[in-house]
Amino acid sequence: MTSLEGTVALVTGSSRGIGAEIARLFAAEGAHVVLHGRDRDALDRVHASITAANGQALVVTGDVTRYDDLEAMRTTVEDEVGPVTILVANAGGSTTPPAPLEDISPADWRAAVDGNLTATFLTIKCFLPGMKARGAGAIITMSSAAARRPSPFSPLAYATAKAGVGLLTQDAAAQAGPHGVRINCIAPEAILTERNSTEIPPAVQAHLRDQHPIRRLGTPNDVARAALFLATDNSAWITGIILDVAGGSVLT
Ligand code: NAD
Repeated sequence: MTSLEGTVALVTGSSRGIGAEIARLFAAEGAHVVLHGRDRDALDRVHASITAANGQALVVTGDVTRYDDLEAMRTTVEDEVGPVTILVANAGGSTTPPAPLEDISPADWRAAVDGNLTATFLTIKCFLPGMKARGAGAIITMSSAAARRPSPFSPLAYATAKAGVGLLTQDAAAQAGPHGVRINCIAPEAILTERNSTEIPPAVQAHLRDQHPIRRLGTPNDVARAALFLATDNSAWITGIILDVAGGSVLT
């Protein structure tokens, strides 16, 4: 028997990158995966790769900064495959480059907080009550190494929003633990997603590699395997942690 047999796992932002890899691994482990994003064609491609490997997947779309969209997604999932038992609040990202504080526009600041911290809050708010009522569930949030220490190379608004995701996770874990729900956070360092592999020049990749005690950059599969650990009973007595998946580059 695979480790996620009988579970329904929603992975937000799984049309590509880290989320797509988590969805593929969870499906291979027996979960009925719910793929989510905004790009229907990209979602269909991930869906096809999962079903070609005999996995089960449903596709939903919506904007995770909009609570109405999340509620509509929850209703669809419950009608089609049953309640979500594993939630990976992965959707997010940074849309602006690093800049001095005084050069950050209020609009860019709000967009980073909205797209990462508020989106994670709304996603948990939508799915946690059902998990608490059923007395079981596992939630995984996505922070970043950018949130683990100040750095001129990290976009400040994004890093601050992701630091908020860490505290949100810990507080929610304290609230949800007595109801049988575990909530943990992953903080990845530079991960070689399809996009990063092409956008980060080879020389910069080599320089970044040398900053890691484990002399390579991370892969989406490194993050997916950490998520699998936090989703299964292998981590049954772990909640409220921030797990650095960072090749040793964050040593706190
Ligand atoms: P990506 O940009 O490749 O994919 C992001 C996914 O989230 C896409 O499916 C996108 O459609 C979706 N998404 C984003 N905002 C959304 C919204 N408001 N509503 C609905 N869908 C939305 O990202 P990635 O590199 O795979 O990163 C995944 C997560 O990991 C993000 O939260 C990111 O901040 C975090 N992270 C990534 C890295 C990295 O190096 N890739 C490092 C640290 C943290």
